[in-house]
Amino acid sequence: MQNDRAIRQYVSAGGTVVYKLPVEAFPGHVTNCYLVLTDPVTLIDAASGQAESNMSLLDCFERMRNEFRETVALEDVKRLIVTHGHIDHFGGLHFVAERSGAAVGIHELDRSVIGHFKERLIVSSKNLHIFLERAGVGPERVNKLLDMNKWSKDLFRARPVDFTFDEGPLDGSPFELYHAPGHCPGQVCIRLDDILFTADHVLSRITPNQSPEFITRYTGLGHYLGALRRVRAVPGIRVALGGHEAAIDDLAARIDATIAFHEARLDKTLALCAGPRTVAEVSRDLFGERKGYHVLLAFLETGAHMEYLYERGHLAVVNVDEVERQYNPVLHYQKQ
Ligand SMILES: [Zn+2]
Ligand SMILES: [Zn+2]
Repeated sequence: MQNDRAIRQYVSAGGTVVYKLPVEAFPGHVTNCYLVLTDPVTLIDAASGQAESNMSLLDCFERMRNEFRETVALEDVKRLIVTHGHIDHFGGLHFVAERSGAAVGIHELDRSVIGHFKERLIVSSKNLHIFLERAGVGPERVNKLLDMNKWSKDLFRARPVDFTFDEGPLDGSPFELYHAPGHCPGQVCIRLDDILFTADHVLSRITPNQSPEFITRYTGLGHYLGALRRVRAVPGIRVALGGHEAAIDDLAARIDATIAFHEARLDKTLALCAGPRTVAEVSRDLFGERKGYHVLLAFLETGAHMEYLYERGHLAVVNVDEVERQYNPVLHYQKQ
């Protein structure tokens, strides 16, 4: 990920001023929050909520006031829109809401990530457990990865949200919402005139991590690619502003490149399955020996691609006798 740490100002075609606030959500990991000077004042995303992240958010406000001669403060924010249910985007909502009294909203499919944070994490890690066993990951490593997956469980305390949305115009605002599931179930892109806030759906350099829908509904590569094509069709976008990295001047070209990247990875994945292969084996071929949390990300990314191919009949499970006999056997996939 290539962080862009400058505060930047954008003005939409309708004259609304936007500031990009590059908040250091975790060490070395910058989340772009966007302050939009609508009435009421809107903040898009709140970073992680870690003490350093909250300090970084305040620091961004101060830099914005100094560099652009603004007077607006965090206390003036009255609406917080969370783009999706990942901790580096919503974790700071307590801090923002307590400081400002802002109403907090998120897409209805990510509402329970905030409202039932621990429960969502625990239930989805059961699915992750089953997925990893089927992927052919050994028991010791499965336990390590499951522990790793819970790293964020004490970072956030659940609370109800104040409003939810799905698609279309957001009441009492100039924003138009586009549901873009895949990277996260409730991921939205937000249009303000000719600006599109793409959050983690489209980023300027990296492609956001994918994981199988088997673990969490409305994730998965099928939803993701479909949502990329829908967002590509949104007319009149001059600039796209992502949840990380730099602004995107040519959104259509960036989406085409992102789709091409996944198509190439799908081709490679399929070619690797000339003989019977497990997700763990293919993951090693695609990503090599990864370490720490990156091992889990590699399994999830591979699993998402193999699931996509399997659902569309390009891969089939070839050890069906074993599958029939055992409770949760390793699945061996082969190109059809
Ligand atoms: Zn994300
Ligand atoms: Zn993110």
